[in-house]
Amino acid sequence: MPSPHTHAVSDPSPGHHGDSHPIRFHGAAAAYVSTKRYTDFSCCHRQPSHIGHCAFVHGYSRSFFFTFGAIELDRCGFVVDFGGLKELKAYLDDMFDHTLLLNEDDPLLDKFRELEAAGAAKIRTMPYGVGMEGTARHLCEYADKLVREMTKGRCWVESVESRENEKNSAIYTNPQAGMWGIQHTGVLR
Ligand SMILES: [Zn+2]
Repeated sequence: MPSPHTHAVSDPSPGHHGDSHPIRFHGAAAAYVSTKRYTDFSCCHRQPSHIGHCAFVHGYSRSFFFTFGAIELDRCGFVVDFGGLKELKAYLDDMFDHTLLLNEDDPLLDKFRELEAAGAAKIRTMPYGVGMEGTARHLCEYADKLVREMTKGRCWVESVESRENEKNSAIYTNPQAGMWGIQHTGVLR
């Protein structure tokens, strides 16, 4: 796997704005970044292996801060059209609005599933754990796939910050950030 953050290699001529020469990119770094914040998702979680009070179900108002990157802008001059991110907002609502977040290997998962069946909770399991770090990684992978598909590889996710309150957050930096593969630059999408 080529390492990210290497520079674009022209293939064969670099092209300039308005041309459509194919250029092969190897994780080329962003020229532009934009940010989008989604705030105040009411949810709760527990850390089953924590020696202390985080093993108890407790809740926060979570917020998510996405940073997007691109080398070229779209025809409106955007890194990513936030109006096109309805699928991301819908996913955040489904995962974090009045939900109980649990680790996939929570030893009490079956017990919590009984409560869910009785109507007491809406459970969502987290592939990298319920913490801010694991949440940021999961959302980074989800949103990176989404925006690359949306923009035919023009745009990607640089990083995601997951915040549980005013004081605590974690940031996941995308190891796959950058532009990959062959792009026809100058053709705005
Ligand atoms: Zn805690």
